[in-house]
Amino acid sequence: MDCIFCKIINKEIPATIVYENDYVMAFDDAHPVAPVHTLIVPKKHIASMMELKEEDMVYVDEIHKAIQEVAKIKGVAESGFRIITNFGEDGGQTIHHLHYHLIGGKHLGPKIIHD
Ligand code: AMP
Ligand code: ZN
Repeated sequence: MDCIFCKIINKEIPATIVYENDYVMAFDDAHPVAPVHTLIVPKKHIASMMELKEEDMVYVDEIHKAIQEVAKIKGVAESGFRIITNFGEDGGQTIHHLHYHLIGGKHLGPKIIHD
């Protein structure tokens, strides 16, 4: 499948991996919008949050656990951060493999991504 995030998961293209387990991978965004900008993705190709099925809910659990780990690794567990997942044309999703942006390391205004 021609999916850039599947290629990162399969280590076919490089990324700065922050955290990884059997279910999820977290790697730094190539175009950060803040000092901390890490993407958390399921290791299964799920196109978006609207494609999540009942059997995928283990990934939702694991993504949330990974968010906690990444926040600690990146040093924003105390200072705070924002989680964003984009969907569809108005949401501005450009890569069709489910991903959650973890953004922090500075005080975030109400508009931080795809305004
Ligand atoms: P979205 O607009 O929500 O689909 O976000 C896609 C994100 O993926 C953007 O923030 C891009 O900067 C990021 N991105 C695209 N290609 C790569 C890559 N090869 N490695 C890391 N991040 C990437
Ligand atoms: Zn994929």
